Amino acid sequence: MCHHRSIVLIRVLGSSAGGGFPQWNCGCPNCRGVREGTISAAPRTQESVAISADGDDWFLLNASPDVHRQIEAFPRLHPRGPRHSPIRGILLSNGDLDHCLGLLLLREFHPLVVYATDQVRRGFTEGNVLYRTLERFPEQAINFTLADFSFWRIAARDARFVAGFGRIYNLSAADLSAAAKT
Ligand SMILES: [Zn+2]
Repeated sequence: MCHHRSIVLIRVLGSSAGGGFPQWNCGCPNCRGVREGTISAAPRTQESVAISADGDDWFLLNASPDVHRQIEAFPRLHPRGPRHSPIRGILLSNGDLDHCLGLLLLREFHPLVVYATDQVRRGFTEGNVLYRTLERFPEQAINFTLADFSFWRIAARDARFVAGFGRIYNLSAADLSAAAKT
């Protein structure tokens, strides 16, 4: 029997849908309200998550168009040397622009390791002139092809759930397992 505890550190970097909140061309009551400070809500960047097993090496789940701001807002993702990044890789869950555009913003002569299925990789790299920005030196972008995604079961002990324009709930393990069953 193995008794060591496995811990996964998860940081939600952004939790809005594509376009962010407020969205640049949206004048709905919520977007207007957050701009004017008349509703109790915080601006949110586009969805992305950082995960780490040890707090030192990090992987991003998708690279959102807000990736620069998201990195700056989370000190664990800051460089620890003159040219360094603790981001060891980026996993693309699909080929949505909201999930891939950030790759083009992480191009300052830094090697990027991108994990994606072959379909997602082809969708992003073939016929994409912008992608050439990631090919300025050999192996700047190293693509790992996954034949298929594997799935892990992660049992969270508790969670903080930020929902619906700034409301925050604390969820217990019992809440989480109940939610998983619905
Ligand atoms: Zn809106």
